[in-house]
Amino acid sequence: MIDKITITASSKKRAIFSENHLNFYMKYAFLVFRSLRKPFFQKFVSWMLRKEKIDEDKVKDVQIKTFPFRNENGKGLAGKCKIKGNIFIYPRRLEFCREKTQELGKENINFYIKSRARATLIHELLHLKYASNEEKVRELTKRYFNIFAKHQHTQNSNGHKIAKMLFT
Ligand SMILES: [Zn+2]
Repeated sequence: MIDKITITASSKKRAIFSENHLNFYMKYAFLVFRSLRKPFFQKFVSWMLRKEKIDEDKVKDVQIKTFPFRNENGKGLAGKCKIKGNIFIYPRRLEFCREKTQELGKENINFYIKSRARATLIHELLHLKYASNEEKVRELTKRYFNIFAKHQHTQNSNGHKIAKMLFT
C-alpha cells in the first residue's frame, strides 16, 4: 500500500492560508506521510487487512490532505473513504495544535498527530468492509489501534492521555 500514499493540496485552499499556516500544514502533512509509511505500521495494516479479509486492491489511494476540512455543521473531519476506494486523511487545525502544544509539549503533540493519522487510516480502511456501519467501525478501530499501540516500540508516557484525545 506504501506506493499509494500521497500528499495532496488544493490550490484553492492554498491561496487563502497565511505563510505561517502553509508552513505548519506542510510540516504536518510530511509528518503524517512518514508515519503512515513506517514499515512496522505498514506491516500492521497488511495484517489487519488479511484478518478482516479486505482485499488490498480495494484501496485505490490514500491521500494525505494538506489542509483541514470542515463539513456543513462546522465539524472538522479526520478522514473520508469513497466507495471507489479513495481514502482521505485530514489534519487538525493549527489553532488546536498550538493550544495542545502548550498543554502537552511538542513531542507529545507530534506523537498525537502520528497516532491520529494512523487511527484514521485504520478507521477508513475498515469502512471499505463495513460501509456505513459507523458503530462497528469505531469499535474495531479502537480495538485494532490498541493492538498496534501495544506493539509499538516507542512508548509514550502520555499515551493514555493521548488515547483519550483520539477516541472521545
Ligand atoms: Zn467512520
